[in-house]
Amino acid sequence: VGLPSDDLAVQATNDDATSCKRYAVDRGYWKDEFIRYLYRSSEKKSPEISRGYYARVKSIHILVDQFLDRTQQKCQLVTFGAGSDTLHWLLWKRKKLPALHVEVDFPTVTARKSHCIKTRPVLLEALSNPVITMEAIRSDHYVLLPADLRDVKSLGKQLIDAGLDPNLPTLFLAECVLAYVEGAKVNDVIRWTAEHFKTSVFLNYDPINPFDKFGEIMKQNLKSRGCALLGMETCPDSESQVKRYHDNGWEGAWSMDMAEVYARLPRDDVARIERIDFLDERELLDQLLRHYCLSGAHLDSQQLGAMDDGP
Ligand code: SAM
Repeated sequence: VGLPSDDLAVQATNDDATSCKRYAVDRGYWKDEFIRYLYRSSEKKSPEISRGYYARVKSIHILVDQFLDRTQQKCQLVTFGAGSDTLHWLLWKRKKLPALHVEVDFPTVTARKSHCIKTRPVLLEALSNPVITMEAIRSDHYVLLPADLRDVKSLGKQLIDAGLDPNLPTLFLAECVLAYVEGAKVNDVIRWTAEHFKTSVFLNYDPINPFDKFGEIMKQNLKSRGCALLGMETCPDSESQVKRYHDNGWEGAWSMDMAEVYARLPRDDVARIERIDFLDERELLDQLLRHYCLSGAHLDSQQLGAMDDGP
């Protein structure tokens, strides 16, 4: 049983993620002209880390694009634990915005993001009719919502108040978030989304396999910084990710570890990024990729076509 997760330490994981993404972007793994406005420095990372982040970001972008195409952008996107994610700006730049995108995170994290957006014209430019407060933003197509995922009652109310329409197709995205939240509370969120949005997709990226040597190191590393992978205790592998969706009202669930995802990414782009940083041997990268998974599920009341096959 893990130690209770310290909220501040969990929030700091956003800096880790953004710092790794910023470094990979600077090295040319993928394009993101906005990340520099949300994270200033770019410390050196290993080639394994950059390739891992590449697989994570690329696969999520592919699946989000698929959803936007299938719904012809007449849809909504909800990002749980969005941190400093730049997805909204990347979609805006490509004229691929959904009708509404709501980003949720702890108030301290949304306060920082709100400040960045308010003070950087490059980010602000993407929002139409923004009303910006210290911790929140409301605009025509984008809402930044300070909320705690562990309080589903209040979260649900806030999401509906933010203007989400339960009748519009909706993609819920959780990228490296649910593992930090206690299992029962994650179930509440997954069940709430299934109960309220009948044409929807849930996408989740999480660490898995905590029980082998590599998994132990991963857990200890986070624990030493005050972070417990609470959600991973009840959902430690691909099979339990699938079961969790089915137990909480979702259909057509799938899950694959990131080694499998990596193997399915467009070969030409993978060949391109593999030339960026030299990798001696693949053993460590494979280990790393096998300790994360991407999973998804859908509800298809409007028969848009299932998204049950992953990337
Ligand atoms: N999704 C972003 C990404 O992948 O770049 C950030 C990931 S970061 C590892 C985890 C994020 O989840 C942090 O921003 C943290 O504050 C947020 N988070 C964790 N638990 C949360 C909770 N109970 N309520 C709201 N946000 C939470």
